Order: sequence, then C-alpha cells, then structure tokens
Amino acid sequence: MIASLEGAGLTWSEVPEEADIILVNTCGFIAEAKEESIETTLAIKEKYPYKQVVMAGCLVRRYRHHLIHELNEIDAFWSGADPAAISEILPDLYSLPVLQGMPDLPAAAEVRAKSHKRSKRKVQYTLFERKRLLSFPGSAYVKIAEGCSNNCSYCAIPLIRGTLRSRERRSIVSEVKDFIGRGIFEINIIAQDLASFGVDRGSQELELLLNDISALKGEFWIRLLYIHPDHFPRSLLSIIRDDPRILPYFDLPFQHASPAILKAMGRKGSKESYLSLIEEIHKCLPDAVIRSTFLVGFPGESREDFLTLIDFLEAAQLDWAGVFTYSREEDTRAFSFSGSVAKGAAMRRKREIEEIQLSITEKRLERFIGRELAVLVEERVRGEDLFLARGYLRRRKWMD
Ligand code: SF4
Repeated sequence: MIASLEGAGLTWSEVPEEADIILVNTCGFIAEAKEESIETTLAIKEKYPYKQVVMAGCLVRRYRHHLIHELNEIDAFWSGADPAAISEILPDLYSLPVLQGMPDLPAAAEVRAKSHKRSKRKVQYTLFERKRLLSFPGSAYVKIAEGCSNNCSYCAIPLIRGTLRSRERRSIVSEVKDFIGRGIFEINIIAQDLASFGVDRGSQELELLLNDISALKGEFWIRLLYIHPDHFPRSLLSIIRDDPRILPYFDLPFQHASPAILKAMGRKGSKESYLSLIEEIHKCLPDAVIRSTFLVGFPGESREDFLTLIDFLEAAQLDWAGVFTYSREEDTRAFSFSGSVAKGAAMRRKREIEEIQLSITEKRLERFIGRELAVLVEERVRGEDLFLARGYLRRRKWMD
C-alpha cells in the first residue's frame, strides 16, 4: 500500500502530526483483532479529527457493509482484494475539504460511499517495487501467494483473502535478488501455507522456488514461515540440508493432536503422522528448530482430547509453540458446531499448554549452550557497547 501511494506522488511519514491522511491497516481474523482494529481506528480519528482517516485491510474486506454504515467518523474505507490498488481512492480523498482543516460531513459521506464502491471491484494483485520496508533493518518479508484453499472449518482467512493465488516464481526470485542486492540479509518467505504454493497452477512448487533462490549468489538467510503439516513436501529437507542459507527453521501449525478435533477442524493429519514428520525433519536436519501453534477450546474438545494434545506436546519436544483459544467466527463452518467450550476452561487449557511448552523450550535451548552460531545483529543499545542479535532459531516477532 505504501509503495502504491508513493507511486501516486504521496510522501510517507511515520509521524501522524505531519500527515494529511492516516491509513490504518486492520486485521479481521479473530474477535480480539477485530475489536483492537476498530478501537485503534476510532481513537486515531478522535485524536486527529481534522485529518483524513482511511481504514483498510482485512477487517474492511470482511465487514465492509457494516463498517461503512456504522463507523460514521471514518472518512474512507479500502476493502479491495488488491491492497496496492489503494491509490485509486486518492482522487476522492483530495476532494474532501477536511484537508483544508474544515470537516464537511456531506462531502465526507459522498467519499465514503465512493471509496466503498470502488473497493468492491475485482482487481488483480499488482506488485510495486517496495523501496520502503516496515520490517526491522536487515530483514524483509516476501509474500509468495495470497489466499488459501485449505478451508479449515474455524478459519476466516479464505473468506477474507479468497482462494489460493500463487505469484510467478520469476517475480519472486527477482524480488529476493533485489533485496539481497540492497543489503537485506534475512528474507522471510511467507504465505498462508507455503506448501500450497503453485497448487493453483497444478502442483506444489516450493521446491522449485527454493532451487531457484539457491542458485542466487551471495550471503543471506531464507526463512520459511508457515508450512501446513498435512502436505509438507519432504523434498524440502535435502534442499535445506544442501544450502545452509536456507534456515532449518520450521513453523508448522499442527493446531491439535486429537483425531476427532483434527477431523472437525478439517485437517487430515494425526498425532502419529505429525510425530513422524518431526522425526523425519530431525533425522535429516539434526539442528532443525520446529515451532508450532495450537488451538484449544474448539467446539467439542473434551478433557480427553485435551490430554491427547498434552501427550503429543510431550512426545513432539517442539522448540516453541504459540497457543490460541478458539474464536467463533461468522460464516465459517465451525460457527454452527455444537459443544462449545467455556471461555474460562479454554483459557485454563491455553495456560496449561503454555506452561508445559515453556519447560520443554528451556530444555531444548540447552543444546545451544557453548555453541557458536552466526547471528544477525539488529540493534546497538544506546550509550552502551552492547548489541542485540538473533540466531537462526528465532524469527523476529512482527512489530517487536
Ligand atoms: S491453512 Fe491456515 S489460512 Fe488456510 S484455512 Fe487453514 S488455518 Fe486458515
């Protein structure tokens, strides 16, 4: 979005006081994110009443009809499938008298209606050269596919982002090459599910992409973020083993281990298949770091299902795991499932898993004591001869 707006002649500033237009990028994935998105946008408009506040992103994409009618304070909305097409609403925004410091409600309402109409159009996913990155210096995110066709029963992402659309390999490799040439050391390859990359064109292409990236010269790290464990391409392992620049770091969202819950979630794996995947990874790559996410409190999750998940956790010995409680989302299949788990019980299960994982993580980290690792230096502590750095075993948390 920034690249698109800069291409249209705007100047980006991270200081809201300097800006004429404030763009709020929202999330519409789960209840907490939705609340936070709305509260943040309204708080910004309240703080800067004479600036134009544009709400964009997934929340708008999911709830555009409600938002446009209910958030009268907000000047414009962008819910286009193509975030980069946001510059299309600029002519409308320029016509607002708000820019002259005088809010004019009838004009604002007209723009709100227009921006909504424009954003309903189907647009192609366009790519802009990203001169400015919001990630930490030295690190960049390269998205290789948009949308998801896995349709897990609890997940709103396919409703928001649509079905899988993979980028052309050539364009991805050229972007990676450009970043390396600009001195970016760590490239995070992301998508909702990297294992599905290319499937919309006929077959899995992650292996081909990594071979193409491996052919590039230079010093860099490639970090793969989010591979659905049900279709993990085993051929990846030898590619990673043969090119140390592709990090042996795996983010595999297992979500659960109970057969009944996995089935209800619409996932095909099992406790056994996931344990065997972990074993295969460690066999080929003894230094592999594996992290995962789990969802507790899914409708119908009994104490027994939960104990199966704990058994799995003990057996899997993962390096790290994030735990989420189930959020009941409209228009997903799970919305109508019976057997809801009380919020308090779900929270207790989350804390239980987190405690168990914490002690596993502490033990797992012991294998790095006394070893020398290459690290990415990210910050110098002001006024001290001290630097903060990160090894291959840890990704940068978004907005750390
Ligand atoms: S694979 Fe991930 S993004 Fe796709 S539907 Fe399942 S949970 Fe959602």
